[in-house]
Amino acid sequence: MGPGPSDVSPRVLNALGRSTIGHLDPAFVMLMDETKALLQYAFQTKNSLTLPVSAPGSAGMEACFVNLIEPGDKVIICINGVFGKRMVENVIRCGGEPITIDSPWGQQTSADKLELALKSHQKVKAVAMVHAETSTGVRNDVEQLCAIAKNYDCLTIVDAVTSLGGIEVNVDKWQIDAIYSGSQKCLSCIPGISPVSFSEHAVEIIKQRQHPVQSWFLDMNLIMGYWGEGSRSYHHTAPVNSLYALHEALLILKQEGLQNAWNRHKQLHQKLVAGLAEMGLSMLVEPDARLPQLNTVRVPEGIDEARVRKVLLEEFQLEIGAGLGELSGKVWRIGLMGHGCSQRNVDYCLAALKSVLK
Ligand SMILES: *Cc1c(COP(=O)(O)O)cnc(C)c1O
Repeated sequence: MGPGPSDVSPRVLNALGRSTIGHLDPAFVMLMDETKALLQYAFQTKNSLTLPVSAPGSAGMEACFVNLIEPGDKVIICINGVFGKRMVENVIRCGGEPITIDSPWGQQTSADKLELALKSHQKVKAVAMVHAETSTGVRNDVEQLCAIAKNYDCLTIVDAVTSLGGIEVNVDKWQIDAIYSGSQKCLSCIPGISPVSFSEHAVEIIKQRQHPVQSWFLDMNLIMGYWGEGSRSYHHTAPVNSLYALHEALLILKQEGLQNAWNRHKQLHQKLVAGLAEMGLSMLVEPDARLPQLNTVRVPEGIDEARVRKVLLEEFQLEIGAGLGELSGKVWRIGLMGHGCSQRNVDYCLAALKSVLK
């Protein structure tokens, strides 16, 4: 029950153990087509360039930046936690010029701040933001921020690593041009795969680049030859078994239904928060901005937070997360992600925490 990886369901673990077949085997190509359709469902998009990058969420992040950002490009980055800061690093390494909007950790990025930044800078190419800030437990209002960015003709780049499968993500309706997620948070798959999706507009921009993408491995112009429509050619050996697992995890999500999955996360989050409140524990984030899948709980005065986590792990086999960066020592992060988001886990976590704190 930490910030990820989350519990992987037995169905997914079983899928992982199927025989390995060739990455161009017709049966595997069928599985690729199905996986793409399932990802389009999860992301709520018709984007044809929707695929799993063969590497963790950080590679999905990098794929979005290296393909869209060229030397000299200005990019506005909304920062209110660890993952926004990483986007800045990506832009710098692409030779781009980052313009940052900083908001306090634990609060949302405000629409006014973005509007002001867009008014005061000319020729901004893209606006980047994190939907679910796993370091703080804040949900940023991606729909609203993307609508503002679009008023200024900017591309929109969104980190949905922790949001996908846990709260609403609607790529087409929210006008997102490039989005990346991760397999090991609310999709409850094994770590190491990063679903991405690019809009038609983003694809045009990638095809018309002045400079070749500086990463050969993540160059979408080349990856399209393997994951695109029509004949498929070798680019790299796909992580065949990991993709069996992702396919199964996405199938589980589709069978439950997106809306049901979001409702489950929300309801169990409310039960967890109510139970914590009974123990006198409070949350870092205001109710409207809270992520159901990542609960940041304030450490009470006089409690050694690291010792609490150590006892939970050793005596209750329960992992919860520590605070990151400036929240280090001040909060715990309790994950309710995907398969791990269950009534049983909420009850167990509350009982264990109560016992340890006593
Ligand atoms: C976990 C996470 C990442 C990084 O994913 P990895 O699979 O660890 O590379 C990026 N962004 C957010 C918001 C995350 O929670």
